[in-house]
Amino acid sequence: MSVLERFSYSGLESYKKCPAQFKFRYIDKIRKTDEGIEAFTGKRVHEALEFLYTEVQSGRLPFIDGILEHYEQHWEKNWHDRIAIAKRGERVEDYYRLGEDCIARFYRNNQPFSERVEGIELELDFMLDNDDSYRMKGIIDRLDHDGEGNYEIHDYKTGKRAMSQGQADQDNQLALYQIALEQQREDVQTVSLVWHFVRYGIVVKSKRTKEQLQHLVRVMKNRIDEIRLKEKQGGEFPAKPMILCNWCYYWEECPAQSGSNPYIR
Ligand code: SF4
Repeated sequence: MSVLERFSYSGLESYKKCPAQFKFRYIDKIRKTDEGIEAFTGKRVHEALEFLYTEVQSGRLPFIDGILEHYEQHWEKNWHDRIAIAKRGERVEDYYRLGEDCIARFYRNNQPFSERVEGIELELDFMLDNDDSYRMKGIIDRLDHDGEGNYEIHDYKTGKRAMSQGQADQDNQLALYQIALEQQREDVQTVSLVWHFVRYGIVVKSKRTKEQLQHLVRVMKNRIDEIRLKEKQGGEFPAKPMILCNWCYYWEECPAQSGSNPYIR
């Protein structure tokens, strides 16, 4: 299935930030094995929290040592030689330790994990406006449900910046997952969107109105239409240089850059 048949939130965001990067990755399908250390660390923390809640769902409450051991094993198992540190002066150990701190803080702040968890790393395949020409996919880190139609969509963020309430109220990723949830379950009464900024132990919550969700559907459909039209007519996918270029793996392909990315070592 081509990406132009099924979109993801991150793909559509990548198009908004830099259409050229979107094209290299999703249309030309240029795959790079490179990976930023931030993304690598984030994946390992997600795995550790997934393991934690899987254990809890099976009726076991692992000690923090068990979770950290899982983290260490998966760090080592997944490590490869194309992991880049774009920030000067930072070391692999700093990121390893950062991941440990995130997990330990989350454990301290959330034990005894009595939430009613319904799904972990839940894969979504859904449509905008119930129209199968606008199919999307996504993954919910954790879905909680009180059994009476009140859901919480949880997302773990390991990045440096925590969102303000205003930013969370504008964020579209979890709102799209709410659209998926309401499409696929008949019992939905309320949905809360919950972000865990695990570096700081900060939790931010938000809700969406029906009108906001309808507006989001229109915005995303328009973006998909624009991409498809350009692709069909051979339109331009311009490069938009920005600070995030330091983390971009498409310097060799990018008309706005030359050579390979000097920030990735
Ligand atoms: S280097 Fe910057 S401008 Fe070029 S594709 Fe990557 S993000 Fe876009």
